[in-house]
Amino acid sequence: QLVLGLESSCDDTAAAVLCIGEDVEVLSSIVRGQDAAHAPFGGVVPEIAARAHADLIDIVAEEALAEAEVSVPDLSLIAATAGPGLIGGVMAGFTFAKGLSIASGVPLVPVNHLEGHALSVGLEGGAELPYLLLLVSGGHTQLLIIEGPGQARRLGTTIDDAAGEAFDKTAKLMGLPAPGGPAIERLARDGDAERFAMPRPLLGREGYDFSFSGMKTAVRQAAQEAAPLNESTKADLAASFQKAAIAHLIRQTERALAQSGAKALVAAGGVASNSVLRSELEALAERSGASFKAPALRYCTDNAAMIALAGYQLHAAGLAPSQEDALALAPRPRWPLDGEAAPVIGRGK
Ligand code: ATP
Ligand code: FE
Repeated sequence: QLVLGLESSCDDTAAAVLCIGEDVEVLSSIVRGQDAAHAPFGGVVPEIAARAHADLIDIVAEEALAEAEVSVPDLSLIAATAGPGLIGGVMAGFTFAKGLSIASGVPLVPVNHLEGHALSVGLEGGAELPYLLLLVSGGHTQLLIIEGPGQARRLGTTIDDAAGEAFDKTAKLMGLPAPGGPAIERLARDGDAERFAMPRPLLGREGYDFSFSGMKTAVRQAAQEAAPLNESTKADLAASFQKAAIAHLIRQTERALAQSGAKALVAAGGVASNSVLRSELEALAERSGASFKAPALRYCTDNAAMIALAGYQLHAAGLAPSQEDALALAPRPRWPLDGEAAPVIGRGK
């Protein structure tokens, strides 16, 4: 089966074509970032993002189909992100998907962007169900038990900033270019992680939640005290922050893994492309007797291959809405993965 995926929830316009049979084959996966458009403003500007998605989504979709040598009538499904995210961008992508579906008669499957991240490990063989998922991205930091498509149970979530957001804010404070995560990781390699003391959030608290706002404050204070920041101080600050952020992620994940008894640990989302985090998660899985898997870096950050796969799997599990409901669906800016399905316009909330 050939599936087209479309993604437009943040600042990447993406399209992908998957061929799914016994195995999952990614025939094409195009991701067009908008970093340059947002750079002058020091962060993602929703209006600029929405316009860029509207301008690019058809071009990117055409590129993905051309690279896969697939034409629209050959498709079995069109899967498109319907939330959560910046609503203007989600609308631009999802409305394009609706139009394409109506014009071609190929069924539309609305996909929760987080479901895409949660199932992204399936692009490379998948993991044993149920697995404990550490979802660490720009907008979310959660521990979830994934029992299958459409079946997520949340164990913990951040009570303030997301991990990726903390990396981005720390990077911005040091004048590093966006995206902050990779910049911090690079800089941290040459830094002394012991130089700056960082808090250990939620120590002694029950549950599996996360908190990154204390670290953010500590970084700001340390940066002010050490100003003006030279290169080696920046590296030390990056290393100290990264070590503390990862220690916090590892601690909560380890506790959740022990409690849940899951046999497999999976990481997903942009921060899961951090190589230090990946190797520490691998070590954690090993000492816990669990397997560890995280998707390749290009499938950790936003992409449409994961959306196509999630759409296909939801459809195969009988969890996709009817075509009528899909076309009437209102995209959602907020849409928890373990919550109810997206509302259909004119029915329910
Ligand atoms: P969400 O999925 O929650 O809606 P998003 O789609 O914007 O948010 P992703 O694309 O999954 O997020 O991830 C982007 C985030 O990942 C950014 O915050 C970025 O700084 C972070 N990130 C990317 N690479 C790394 C890295 N090597 N180390 C740490 N963080 C990283
Ligand atoms: Fe994302």
